[in-house]
Amino acid sequence: MRSRYYGTAEALGFQEALAAYHYLTSRIDRTILRYGRFLIDTEALLVPVNLDCFHCHLVHGQTCCEQGQPYSMTGTNLSLFESHALPILDRHAQDERVETARVRGVFEATAATDHHSCIRKFDGDCLYLVKQGGQHICSIHRYALEEKIEPAQLKPFSCSLFPLEIIEMDEGILLTAVTPDTMDFSRWGDFYHKHYSCVNPARRPKGTPAHYFSARDYRPAWLWARDLLVSYWGDADVTSIESKLSLPV
Ligand code: SF4
Repeated sequence: MRSRYYGTAEALGFQEALAAYHYLTSRIDRTILRYGRFLIDTEALLVPVNLDCFHCHLVHGQTCCEQGQPYSMTGTNLSLFESHALPILDRHAQDERVETARVRGVFEATAATDHHSCIRKFDGDCLYLVKQGGQHICSIHRYALEEKIEPAQLKPFSCSLFPLEIIEMDEGILLTAVTPDTMDFSRWGDFYHKHYSCVNPARRPKGTPAHYFSARDYRPAWLWARDLLVSYWGDADVTSIESKLSLPV
């Protein structure tokens, strides 16, 4: 029962792997459909999501990049990031984090990262979260746009993946999303459903202005990560996977 969070070096714990296995076996060939090595969760991938990230701090007091750090990186995602890691900070950070990164490195492996090498925290937040123009932004994403690099290739894969979840299992690659039914095994856990209106409209605080996390801007989870998957798997596979989904026209 081997399983790993796709795009990371991190295996699921025993309980999570068991929960993922039960989730899969209770749905396979019913709502989870096969396409080659992919196991497509046709219900979860359609849950409504609104990644109104620019308004997140205003509505919830903090974004998901604050007080946290990304999952580990692998393969070309890791090597591309490493080749730009310090130039990103040189350009977009003005405080002592630049020196910290030079002296101690941009990664750390601690009990909080389950001893996997992950982008370190600085002052409680992800090292690459910076404030510009009054907004919290990901400096990796900003730098990638400036350098005409696909952001999904340069940022940690997991950061771009939300609200989807992808797990490599013995049975295939499970392609699902953050829902109450996947929180027992997903890398996202129950945190987002408990705290954020992007995946749980019930968490939208009373009195929130109508255009913040606007009800009409919720779209199927799949659509938020489609471009990411095209950049990793190519258009043909992604289009074939998508043909299994009953997306609204
Ligand atoms: S790498 Fe960017 S998107 Fe990921 S946690 Fe850090 S600031 Fe947020």
